[in-house]
Amino acid sequence: MIRVADHGIYPRLRIDGGKLQHNAACVLHECRSRGVKLTAVTKGTCAHPEVVSALLKAGVKSLGDSRLLNLNRLSELAPEAELVLLRLPGPRSAVGTVRHADISLNSEAATLQALNQAAAETGVQHGVWLMVDVGDLREGVWVDDVASLARSAKGLSNLQVKGVGTNLACYGGVIPSTDNMNRLLRARDTVAEVLGYQPPVVSGGNSANWNLLCSGDTPQGINNLRIGEALLLGQEAVQRQPIEGAHRDVFSVETEVIEVKKKPSVPTGETGQDAFGQLPTFEDRGDHLRAIVALGRQDVDPDGLRPEMEGVEIIGASSDHMILDVEHAEAAVQPGEVLSFVVTGYSALLALFTSPYVDK
Ligand SMILES: *Cc1c(COP(=O)(O)O)cnc(C)c1O
Repeated sequence: MIRVADHGIYPRLRIDGGKLQHNAACVLHECRSRGVKLTAVTKGTCAHPEVVSALLKAGVKSLGDSRLLNLNRLSELAPEAELVLLRLPGPRSAVGTVRHADISLNSEAATLQALNQAAAETGVQHGVWLMVDVGDLREGVWVDDVASLARSAKGLSNLQVKGVGTNLACYGGVIPSTDNMNRLLRARDTVAEVLGYQPPVVSGGNSANWNLLCSGDTPQGINNLRIGEALLLGQEAVQRQPIEGAHRDVFSVETEVIEVKKKPSVPTGETGQDAFGQLPTFEDRGDHLRAIVALGRQDVDPDGLRPEMEGVEIIGASSDHMILDVEHAEAAVQPGEVLSFVVTGYSALLALFTSPYVDK
């Protein structure tokens, strides 16, 4: 029986600060031993205070996020840290960018001008890393156009070009390699020729660079990585393989069972589209015991969860309901019971942190 006194706020997202600190220390150690500075990325967690505190305890000195709202939070939680805006600012967010970030990533001359003007008005110097697209087709100038971008940054007296960077894998799935890292280094040389000095930072990418980093095949000169997933979830981002020594269960979500019924595994009646416009298909397993938990696609990507109880299987989800096959669950599941799920996917993590319905 569930006693009323056992009530709580569900769904509830749990953060294991100790495990996160351990992961961050592992990633920092690997980076340092390879001559790479780490910018730890908090955007998967809305820069949550527990997360930031664990990163700082591990010794992180540079933090990156894609949203100004999160950077604003970071500037209060980590006043000493270097703050990097990861998503390109647009000219209209130039004022917020120079206020909340020490450094921003840029690929547009118009934005550089707006940032320079905003920095002058605010009375600050703002750092920029010029972004180069070495093949993934997300942000960055094509390698041939980097000289022109560097020329447009030259002479802007409140901007300092402190680095060049690239981003791989996120859109095109292009795997970081010695070859594309060398292209980034050549872009750095081009920028150095235009500016008359060598920008100190060459930021080679994100958690997808992990295997290249550990293999030792990253060319000399790549001296920064911006890493989120690897330390938050303990996995690299090309094949989602575990990182040696890291925990893969830093985050878990708990929620309440609201129905348990034995039902057929195939719907009854003519079927059309489901709640999300997909045509669902079903495998006939006969009558199975099913449970519904109070968690849905508004809060999570169900593909990025792993039930903690042995024998429980996630079979689907709509906006507010997640359906489980509990026929082979190791313990009896009943309404009011709280089930826990480990967060294994980045999109599940993002959704849980951004859902206002989830207690953190
Ligand atoms: C999100 C992001 C990162 C971090 O990516 P992970 O895969 O979480 O390590 C790095 N750089 C940029 C530009 C990003 O947008």
